Parts: sequence; structure tokens; C-alpha cells
Amino acid sequence: MNRNQVLPQVELSSDPSALRKVDFCAPHSYQGAGFLTVSALPRVAQEASTVDPGDGFHWEVSTHFADSPGSDPRQILQLGLKGRLHLVCQRCLQDFPLPLDEERQFVLVASEAEADAYPIEDDQQEPLVASQHFDLLELIEDEILLSLPLIPKHPEDACEPHASSFGEAGMDTDELEKPENPFNILKNMKKNS
Ligand SMILES: [Zn+2]
Repeated sequence: MNRNQVLPQVELSSDPSALRKVDFCAPHSYQGAGFLTVSALPRVAQEASTVDPGDGFHWEVSTHFADSPGSDPRQILQLGLKGRLHLVCQRCLQDFPLPLDEERQFVLVASEAEADAYPIEDDQQEPLVASQHFDLLELIEDEILLSLPLIPKHPEDACEPHASSFGEAGMDTDELEKPENPFNILKNMKKNS
């Protein structure tokens, strides 16, 4: 590849299904942005305690080719994620909105072996195996899941006192979304048998 050649830039579709197949072996770079609702991200939706209008993630992706001494130019992928998700606070057990603002950088490599050989010390960019059908939606979802805290909590001192929430509107719909207590299911089964 001629290093001075300016590669054409292709606009990524913001349609979630189009993000499932992106050709990162093609000789062009990409740029695109869009918004993903929580329901477009099934594994993220599983983590959500509730979904408010506006919950979801703005994404921005761009790729470029960077010179690499002694080898072909490397394709670099930059991913920006900004959004919000509702989780259950593990201190007070109430929903709270968790804002997310992440920037990631990856280097596209040709094979799993090349990815395995990639220096671990390089925490600036992680290797990704390029393919003609790269699932960019899966990558976005992975990165959102990776940035969720292990134990989600309100910011310090922001927990609502428990008693104040009882009897408030909205309580009932929260309860409906929770899976039924297995002991209650057992009780009902016995009753009906
Ligand atoms: Zn809390």
C-alpha cells in the first residue's frame, strides 16, 4: 500500500443492524455516529433496572491508517461512547441513572495469533481481529458492559432514605418489572396442585 495514498472515507450507517457487518479488510477508512437505545443492546438491557426515555448511548467511530515501522500501516479504530443507563444501587436498592463517557482505541490485526502476540503492556490500544463481517454492534455492547461498575452505587451520600419511597407513584411499575420471587412461585404451584 502506498503510504501517501489518501484512502477514501466511508460513512457508517447508524442503523444497528448495519453495524453487525462492517468490512474492516476493505481499503478505506470509516467514520460514523449514531444513537443506540437500550433495547438495541440485549445484553445491556439485561443489566438495566428500568429504562427511561433518553436512556441509551451515543456512539462515534472513526478509523484511520497509521504508519507502523517495518510493516504495513495499521488500521486504528477509535470508539467514543456517551450515554446513560439505569441500574440498581447496591447500597439503597433504588434505581439510579449511571452516566457513561468512554473513549477507546483499538488496533486491527489480521489474525487471532497476531492478537495474542500483541504486547499486553500497550494499554493505550487493544488488538481486534479484522474481518469482512466485523460485528461493530457487539464491540460497542462489550465496551458498555466492561465500563459498568462491579458494584453499582449512587454517588456518596446520594442514596434516598428507604422509607420516603414507600407508597410513592412509580413503586408499582417497579415491582412489576422484577422477576417473581421463586418461593412465591412454589407456593402457588402447591396451591394449584
Ligand atoms: Zn443508593
